[in-house]
Amino acid sequence: MELKFLGTSAGIPTKERNVTSLILDLQGTRNALWMFDCGEGTQHQILHSPIKIPKLEKIFITHLHGDHIFGLPGLLCSRSMGGSTDPLTLYGPTGICQFVETTLQLSRSFLTYPLEIIEVQPGQLFDDGEFKVTAYALNHRVECYGYRIEEHDKPGALDAQKLNQDGIPRGPWMQTLKQGGTVTLEDGRTICGQDYLGTPIRGKSLAIFGDTEPTPEALKLAANVDVMVHETTLEDAFAAKANERGHSTTKQAATLARDAKVKHFIATHISGRYDIEDCSRLLAECREIFPNTDLAEDFAVFKVK
Ligand SMILES: [Zn+2]
Ligand SMILES: [Zn+2]
Repeated sequence: MELKFLGTSAGIPTKERNVTSLILDLQGTRNALWMFDCGEGTQHQILHSPIKIPKLEKIFITHLHGDHIFGLPGLLCSRSMGGSTDPLTLYGPTGICQFVETTLQLSRSFLTYPLEIIEVQPGQLFDDGEFKVTAYALNHRVECYGYRIEEHDKPGALDAQKLNQDGIPRGPWMQTLKQGGTVTLEDGRTICGQDYLGTPIRGKSLAIFGDTEPTPEALKLAANVDVMVHETTLEDAFAAKANERGHSTTKQAATLARDAKVKHFIATHISGRYDIEDCSRLLAECREIFPNTDLAEDFAVFKVK
């Protein structure tokens, strides 16, 4: 599982950073990509990456500010022009449906694939047996959500040595044993898979935030996750200004990472006022509070460990 940053700038694009978009590549679990936000120009960023638009299975929009959604209609149409017929599900706040339907209708665009649009309420969005995704309301100037993604634990591997020791022959029943199920062998013995499985493989968890000033909900959203992706629009000295506009600072986000006991914090959504040198200062401010912080750049890739 990998996080691939396509855009890391707040509000407007800069020469180094495009506006917000992030891909969660679920390789290893299923052959699909999930996208979080889709700022203008996201498809151009995709052209400079190995990402394949048809593999997009779900898009989660945090809020309807332009720097998070203006790339959406173009991306949806390009997926169609590529001839894709695989369904796509789009999650977002109230109004996402009107935004997409209006832009497609007025531009006389149509899609070759089924697009399901779900307007989000706080709470669980789905649990498909592999992943559970829950939306948390954040505190921005418009309705805004953060998404908590929890992968279910997987059964450990079958212990081949133990199976041999107990004289359990190989056969089609291995599949059931692998899932921890019970089978009756030809010799009449009843075997329970659970007795032959190694330690379960722990599922990964992530918290992907939208724009927000500090809010108590954030602690629940990020509690103990493997990776937290959170905005750090401004540096610590501009806390009042950041919060007034519904944003967080470096130190506020890093404090959340520490208090929520996350394992890895990736800072993004950086104001266009900062150049590369400024960014190392922003990163240093975060690391002062939460050492395992990285500051995302466009095209940065992070393994979810
Ligand atoms: Zn923004
Ligand atoms: Zn915003």
